[in-house]
Amino acid sequence: MGVRASTVDRMGRERKVGVYRVPRAVSSAAPTMDADEFRKVGHEAVEWMAHYLERGHEGAPVTSPFPPGHTLARLPPSPPERGEPLEKLFEDFQKVIVPGLTHWNDRRFFGYFPCNNSYPSVLAEMLTAAVGVNAFSWVTSPAATELELRVMDWLGQMLGLPWKGCLQDTASTGTFAALLAARERMGHANGGGVRQGGDGALTAYVSEEAHSSGLKAARMAGLGDAFVRVVPVTDDLAMDPHTLGAAMDADRAAGLRPCFVMATVGTTSTTAVDPVRAIAECCRRHGAWLHVDAALAGTAAVLPEMRWLMDGVELADSFLFNPHKWMFTNFDCSAFFVRDPAALKAALALSPEYLRGPHDGAVENLRDWGPQLGRRFRALKLWFVLRSYGVEGVRARVRLHLAMARRFASLVREDGRFALREEPRLNTVCFALDTDERTEALHRAINATGEAFVTHTRARGRYLVRASFGQTQAEDVDVDRLWSVVQAALATLPPSRGTSRSAPA
Ligand SMILES: *Cc1c(COP(=O)(O)O)cnc(C)c1O
Repeated sequence: MGVRASTVDRMGRERKVGVYRVPRAVSSAAPTMDADEFRKVGHEAVEWMAHYLERGHEGAPVTSPFPPGHTLARLPPSPPERGEPLEKLFEDFQKVIVPGLTHWNDRRFFGYFPCNNSYPSVLAEMLTAAVGVNAFSWVTSPAATELELRVMDWLGQMLGLPWKGCLQDTASTGTFAALLAARERMGHANGGGVRQGGDGALTAYVSEEAHSSGLKAARMAGLGDAFVRVVPVTDDLAMDPHTLGAAMDADRAAGLRPCFVMATVGTTSTTAVDPVRAIAECCRRHGAWLHVDAALAGTAAVLPEMRWLMDGVELADSFLFNPHKWMFTNFDCSAFFVRDPAALKAALALSPEYLRGPHDGAVENLRDWGPQLGRRFRALKLWFVLRSYGVEGVRARVRLHLAMARRFASLVREDGRFALREEPRLNTVCFALDTDERTEALHRAINATGEAFVTHTRARGRYLVRASFGQTQAEDVDVDRLWSVVQAALATLPPSRGTSRSAPA
């Protein structure tokens, strides 16, 4: 195969100057895949994906039935010395890997929280991999940065939050970035370092029900567990703002500096919602940074009837939610908003000579908005999703998921053998039997069927089974299917000894 090269002489005539030969694989190198093989197996892979996205792991269990080490034992301990054909790899993917997965996007998955995806998202992810750009600076891929800023504006409008933002990999990273910005605003830690332990130590506040990423961020930022206050929750499992205010006052009186509060809108355990407005008032009094973690629930705020979730967020300093949970954009994609980007950049911007570009004064370099340098081009899949679904399409699906949760809750409530923790305001339903032992046994029995996957939590000491709704392909009929699995699982348990039934507090 050759490329014909030519030049134009002074008379304007084209002259052949020779043929540049594209070298074939050098004979000593092992053969690697070429474009033709990529096309062939690629088409098969798309077929496989289309089937999987539509049908899930149908006909096989929704979670891996294997004991620890099963997959490991099927993988050679050393890498292959010679390259293998892609068809063989694709075959092994289906035989060795897929059966050992947890099928998060199967309609029978109700565990943890949704981590959903969609056709446009998966397609865009393939394109992202193909262009393979690194979007750390504007100049390293101008369209990637500009698209990211634009889709963040779109998301902000969808949630009624007119702030700038960027896409982080996870909520954990956004929370860490927020805490670093708070730390810098309070104590100029970049210059002198963090001095904890004595007068002026920085303190952080999370609720008992907050996600562990709050504590992890405090550890990574060098605050130390001793300076993280775990604020008790009220009966609705939301942070008690009076106790928060009292704790901040006490810390201030003791010579410490309240620096960072993380409020949660939709806790991981039970989707409880902290009173952001009241918490913001405590933060204002102490000049503390308020970060709102709405990793799961933020998506629901695209619905006008759920906009109450955003109440008080305009008084916060940062806010995040994960389109990779409930907005049909495959992992990873966490939308991180900040009221004052300059405060974030004060903590995180660095510009060594080799990263400087000609337009630095006029553009955003998104490496300055988070801990990492290298950044994936996540905006593309979000753009594909938002354009393909439209805001109305996103709303319709999320509304369906909320309705599914409500209907499942009503089935639980109407069956006298269960206790419903509360009427779900979001997509997650927590329920129990009369004793923790029986609830735990029910949980195990449900999952043992392979026909549904649910997870558990504890609230106020009680063991609860949780069912979280939000699969892209899910329909109302999946509520009935889950309910019959729960019924069948319950039928396998020994009958309850007592007749007393107490609702979990
Ligand atoms: C899922 C979740 C997180 C963690 O999200 P990552 O993106 O995995 O870091 C944090 N907070 C809440 C409330 C969550 O539901």
